[in-house]
This record gives sequence, C-alpha cells and structure tokens, in this order.
Amino acid sequence: MHCPRCTNVALNEAPAGPVSVDRCPKCHGLWLDELELEALLSARPRTLLADDRAVTTAAPAEDARINCPRCRNVYLIKLNSRARPGTIIDSCTVCFGAWLDAGELSRLAHADLAGRLREFFGLK
Ligand SMILES: [Zn+2]
Ligand SMILES: [Zn+2]
Repeated sequence: MHCPRCTNVALNEAPAGPVSVDRCPKCHGLWLDELELEALLSARPRTLLADDRAVTTAAPAEDARINCPRCRNVYLIKLNSRARPGTIIDSCTVCFGAWLDAGELSRLAHADLAGRLREFFGLK
C-alpha cells in the first residue's frame, strides 16, 4: 500500500501492541484497518505513541481529498469513528479502514485516557 498523502511512498508495517499498523516513513501518517484503532487505543503502545507525539510535520491541508490506500479509487471521508464516537476520522466506507495523520493517534489516546479517568471517578 502507498501513503495517501505522499506521492510514491510505500507504507511500512509497524508492530504496535497486538496489531501491526501501516505507517508512512515520510509524513508518519498511520493506516488502520477496521477495528485496529480500538485495539491500539486499548494497548497504548508506548513506542508508537511517543514517536507519534514527537512528529512535527506541518499539518496537511484539511480539504485535501485523499484516497483509501487499500481500495485506491475510493475517497476517504470524515466520519464519526465507530470505535470512538465523537472523534472525526478520515475513513473508508468500503473497507472501514481509517487514516490518522501524524499526531492524531496521540491526541486520541490522550482524549481516551482522560475519558477513562472521568469514568473511573464517576464524572461525566
Ligand atoms: Zn505520507
Ligand atoms: Zn478502503
């Protein structure tokens, strides 16, 4: 698979806890297959999160349309995440994969942790 943001850059497989994600070596974006996001957020793989936080590439243009790296001719659309309602993620409506730009995973993990702490303390 190739990075939907960068031209001619192949995604590398990166082990991340219980799953293995596809990662762009250039923009550090992540491709997640269906349900991998949930698995990643539960596992909180330290190395991947630390690296994701450290990336300071310029944010890509929000309106740039990107194609699904798996389905190729299908545009990703901004969808409410099924794994994390309330989180808008570039998603493929055909294979249900999702693309996270660099930094998005650590922001999600952070929001997730904050949510769990609120639940733990009985706050809503
Ligand atoms: Zn890329
Ligand atoms: Zn797809």
